[in-house]
Amino acid sequence: MMKMQVVIASGKGGVGKSSITASLLYLLKDEYKLIAVDADAEAPNLGLLLGVTEWEIEREHIGAKIARINPESCIRCGLCQMRCPYECIYVDEEGNYVVNELTCEGCNVCGLVCPVPGTITLEEVRSGIIRKATTKYGFPIISAQLDVGKPESGKLVTEEKEWASKIMKEEGLEHMIVDSAAGIGCQVIASVGGADVAILIAEPTPASLSDVQRVYKVVQHFREPAYLIINKADINPGFTKLREWAESEGIPILGEVPYDSSIPRSMSMLKPFVEAFPDSKASEAIRGIAERIKEEILKG
Ligand code: SF4
Ligand code: SF4
Repeated sequence: MMKMQVVIASGKGGVGKSSITASLLYLLKDEYKLIAVDADAEAPNLGLLLGVTEWEIEREHIGAKIARINPESCIRCGLCQMRCPYECIYVDEEGNYVVNELTCEGCNVCGLVCPVPGTITLEEVRSGIIRKATTKYGFPIISAQLDVGKPESGKLVTEEKEWASKIMKEEGLEHMIVDSAAGIGCQVIASVGGADVAILIAEPTPASLSDVQRVYKVVQHFREPAYLIINKADINPGFTKLREWAESEGIPILGEVPYDSSIPRSMSMLKPFVEAFPDSKASEAIRGIAERIKEEILKG
């Protein structure tokens, strides 16, 4: 069997991506040896939706850089403060030039303009954590959490996926399911890059269509085959453009999940909706989608 890395992406938050991912993991877990990766380090919630409350291993992610000013050699010329594009250098009560660590982006403009060599240095600092847990369903999950105020980092997601690959080798796992970050920034590029298949999730609304079109461009860049799941498929019956777009791009629609209040209710129960409300309309739909994923994507 071919090992697959499947990325689930939507281009924006709030379309039910993590809920659908959690239910798909639940439905696929008995047939395949899986590992889940929550790549949304700004708002990680896949672990919660799978009932994870404690993490077995936590590692610091050192990725961000910030500037530091040596007050001993600084001649207080003020050039760094004038040129910092993010306005994060201030003068403290003692007249020292100081970098605000929460807003510094590590761009090193200050270091380049400082007339006293070695006064401003860039130092690596922690930007978040990466952690591992075993879900109560038996498969492992890797998740990350960015520290507040630290810039989003594709490196964080790359490190998550590398750790997941290592566990796959050690434990003989078959498939990696990556719940991508929202948007189209570095974390999404790192989520989509290296995947074998992308499953896109969108709602039938103009905003969701334009978001999914943007993330599809990232998927196309990596030349990955894409599939579409339409969530809340019945909320906007007159809106046909999402289905038309998928057809015109040749993106197969794996299925449509109707709007169902059992999905938000299952989230507060910290369970996949297909486990919490197996008889709901959404659960019936997601079971059909899981079957198609088995046949068309994971059959190898
Ligand atoms: S590294 Fe960039 S953001 Fe940070 S203090 Fe220097 S100029 Fe400002
Ligand atoms: S540019 Fe260099 S010398 Fe001038 S205030 Fe900033 S740190 Fe001090």
